[in-house]
Amino acid sequence: MLKAILRQPRKRILKTRYISIDVRKCRGCGKCIAECPNDVLAKVNFFLHNHVHLNNPQNCTGCLACKIACFHQAIT
Ligand code: SF4
Ligand code: SF4
Repeated sequence: MLKAILRQPRKRILKTRYISIDVRKCRGCGKCIAECPNDVLAKVNFFLHNHVHLNNPQNCTGCLACKIACFHQAIT
């Protein structure tokens, strides 16, 4: 998984077809990960990086459970 994360280009805004995640606003609390029913989201916890990233963006159905769960307005 770490190799997959490191291969991804460093983006501040991560997107599926339905949501955008501003990595700068993310605090890495993991609430959105717990709420997602489709295993779209996962967590980066590597040195100074502690935030969510997209594990399976193609699985996003736009249910917005992650957006509702985020208290930091990182997901729009
Ligand atoms: S709920 Fe918000 S702050 Fe918490 S990990 Fe998800 S995007 Fe980041
Ligand atoms: S919109 Fe729904 S399916 Fe898509 S990432 Fe958020 S919780 Fe998961």
